[in-house]
Amino acid sequence: MIGTGYVGLVSGVCFSDFGHNVICVDKNPDKIAMLEAGRVPIYEPGLDAVMARNVTAGRLSFSGDLAQAVDGADAVFIAVGTPSRRGDHHADLSYVMAAAQEIAAAATGYIVVVTKSTVPVSTNRKVQAAIAEANPNLEFDVVSNPEFLREGSAINDFMMPDRVVVGVETERARKVMAEIYRPLYLRDFPIVTTDLESAEMIKYAANAFLATKITFINEIAALCEKVGADVKQVAKGIGMDGRIGNKFLHAGPGYGGSCFPKDTRALARIGQEHASPLQIVEAVVKVNEEVKRRMIDKLLDLCDGSFNGKTVLVLGVTFKPNTDDMRDAPALTIIPAMVGGGAKVRVIDPQGRQEGEALLPGVEWVSDVYTAAEGADLLVTLTQWNEFRALELSRIASSMAVPRMADLRNIYSAEAAAEAGFVAYDGIGRPRIA
Ligand code: NAD
Repeated sequence: MIGTGYVGLVSGVCFSDFGHNVICVDKNPDKIAMLEAGRVPIYEPGLDAVMARNVTAGRLSFSGDLAQAVDGADAVFIAVGTPSRRGDHHADLSYVMAAAQEIAAAATGYIVVVTKSTVPVSTNRKVQAAIAEANPNLEFDVVSNPEFLREGSAINDFMMPDRVVVGVETERARKVMAEIYRPLYLRDFPIVTTDLESAEMIKYAANAFLATKITFINEIAALCEKVGADVKQVAKGIGMDGRIGNKFLHAGPGYGGSCFPKDTRALARIGQEHASPLQIVEAVVKVNEEVKRRMIDKLLDLCDGSFNGKTVLVLGVTFKPNTDDMRDAPALTIIPAMVGGGAKVRVIDPQGRQEGEALLPGVEWVSDVYTAAEGADLLVTLTQWNEFRALELSRIASSMAVPRMADLRNIYSAEAAAEAGFVAYDGIGRPRIA
């Protein structure tokens, strides 16, 4: 497994839990040192325990030496990052192609090279060509095996996926992949076998669809605010239609994270390059930016038109609960706007501080909601961690200078806030008070 990030480490650990022998490789020596010391470099619930039991069983190890790990392996998974390239928003394939080169230099016998990273259509063929050119005598196959796990529930998602997509061209490689995923077959999981291009497209189309669904409800939420409707009720009412489904209909401050923002931009870019523009996806990218900006307007409104001199307490900075991932989190747009406007911003997050400190200069990190609320002019819920869902609102309201709440995850209600003593409450897509 090349790359020990959110996908590579979870996949490697779970494959070892299936009983396979796995070596997880990373070029970051700090990560390997941590892993060898039994520590998990990311926050993913439950990962440490599964990792420890497979290390103890002798099936899972870590290494910085890619060549040694690849030689003799039946399959090598590329799970390195594919971030947005600066300037053109194309997926940056430099890490994937570098890994392919290293594999080509290291492999000596038949090997299946599996691309797990999210990559644009045609990348697997590029990987294939690069390896064939670098090592013409090597017997190998390339397989596209995009990953659909979600941070925060990654182990469960990996162990019990809705589907496993395998883009494969030869029977020999198909058999290797079937053997690797065989433990899932026991539970009768659907494996979708396709050509390389379709597998690559499935991943981008899935992410773009989900981002569209979130953005759709966010736009409906904006209209709900204008017409006096409640988006929670609207989402419930439309979500009960089986054709629509109730998932991904929670209005919020805009999608973020390590996948949707970069993958929607990359897909839009692929469409443009093939003279087949994806107008819906392009609109989603644009609207999501507007959603985040609308949040700033909301906060500004609650602060009487100026952040200057206000004290704001923000609950949650990670892009969603149960992860420490800060990539493209709405907090990175919203908090700097308040700091830039002269607000004193106090921030609390169960796991986000380590990543967030460098990304959010000028904020004060705190650990207790109740003491941090003292003297504050505004409370903002930005990430719906469980521990923020059942706060003693009256205790918070009574210690704030001006008890006002911007509930950007609709955790509470205007009624509950008013009852607790808040003089102003604004959620998403719902009537506000004051
Ligand atoms: P990440 O940034 O957390 O991890 C990537 C790791 O790869 C880093 O530790 C880096 O040091 C390592 N690396 C890069 N080049 C290397 C090389 N040549 N040799 C060894 N190690 C190398 O990334 P991630 O979030 O795990 O995402 C990986 C891929 O999976 C991306 O394409 C992403 O789009 C996709 N994906 C991510 C998620 C998610 O929830 N994070 C879900 C599905 C798919």
